[in-house]
Amino acid sequence: MEKRVTLKAEILQAGEGCPVCGGEKKTEMARTCRACLNKIGVAATKAVDFVTEMVYDAMVGNAMANSGNVPRGTVWGPILANTRIDLDAKFAPTQNGIGAHWHCKRGVPGGFVSIFVFGDNLRAGQEVSGLAELKIKFVKTRAQEKQPVHYLRVQAVEGVKSDVKLAILEPQFVDRLIPGLPGKVVRNDGYGFAVGFLPEWKPKIEACAG
Ligand SMILES: [Zn+2]
Repeated sequence: MEKRVTLKAEILQAGEGCPVCGGEKKTEMARTCRACLNKIGVAATKAVDFVTEMVYDAMVGNAMANSGNVPRGTVWGPILANTRIDLDAKFAPTQNGIGAHWHCKRGVPGGFVSIFVFGDNLRAGQEVSGLAELKIKFVKTRAQEKQPVHYLRVQAVEGVKSDVKLAILEPQFVDRLIPGLPGKVVRNDGYGFAVGFLPEWKPKIEACAG
C-alpha cells in the first residue's frame, strides 16, 4: 500500500511554506521545500498538488451549489482534516447530480449536526482524510421562513493525511479548538455546538522516514 503523506492543515490554509515539514522554503517548481522533495520526492509534491487542485475544485463546486434554488453558502473551508465515518452513518448513492456520500449525525446539545462525507469506495467506520467545509443552508420551518441550518461537507482525498481532525464540541469547549484554523460556535435556543479542528495526537511524520 502506498504511504500517505501527512500535510499540515495550517500551512495549506495559509498557502505559504512547506506543508510537509512546516519549513519556510519552497522550491521554485514544487510546493514542498527542497529537503522534503529530496526525502520523499515526487510523492509529496504530487500529494500537495493534488490537494491544492481539490481545494480549487471545491471552490468552483461551491460557486455552482450557491447558485441553486435553496439558499446556501460556505461559512469556511475547505480545510484538510481527518474524520471518521460513523458506524451508523447512512449511505446515499449518486442521485440527481449529487455524488455518493455517507451521512453522519453527531449528537450535540439540543439536536444533531450532519456531516456529509463524499468520496469513492468509502465504508462505515473508516478514517477519512479530506477537505472539510462548514456550510449553511436556509430551510423553511413552521416557526421561521428562513431557518439557518449548519452542516459539514467533507470531500475525501486519497494519498494524504492531515495533522488535524475535524471536531464538534459542546459550545463551552470552543477554546480547545486550534486558533489558527477556522472555527465557529452555532447557537439557537437550546441547540448549540462548536465546530473546528483539534490536533491529531499521534501524527505520523512520514517526512522523516526517508
Ligand atoms: Zn519541507
